[in-house]
Amino acid sequence: MTNSLHGSCHCGNIELDLKTDKNVSEFSPRTCACSFCKRHGGLYISDPEGSVEIRLKNNNDVNFYQFGHKTADFLICKKCGVFVCATCDIDNMKYAVINIKTMIDYDFPPLGASNDYDAENTGSRLERRAKNWTPRVVINEI
Ligand SMILES: [Zn+2]
Repeated sequence: MTNSLHGSCHCGNIELDLKTDKNVSEFSPRTCACSFCKRHGGLYISDPEGSVEIRLKNNNDVNFYQFGHKTADFLICKKCGVFVCATCDIDNMKYAVINIKTMIDYDFPPLGASNDYDAENTGSRLERRAKNWTPRVVINEI
């Protein structure tokens, strides 16, 4: 992978790198219309060809928030309150979408799509994530 795009919460307790062959300009950030993402103003990217390394300084200071279908963890730093990414386990693989509000060093293109996944059942939701989210996610405590 040629690029490593870095993101983190405000205090640095949660850091991540998206390894990707895409350039920043090739991403199409998207929103989700659920009541959690609306409240946070989450703006997401992923690369089905890429991978993600998430590094946690202190696992106890991370809220792995779940709601609704409870199929994803929304990683929120308990110390500084920043919502960094969502992860989802499907068939022994961990997938992620990254909130690009945590990637302040890059100029991503403007919003590409506003999506409403409210009508999905759990099966179609996992199918969509397995296709669109970034696979090969590892979470390391450092
Ligand atoms: Zn933090």
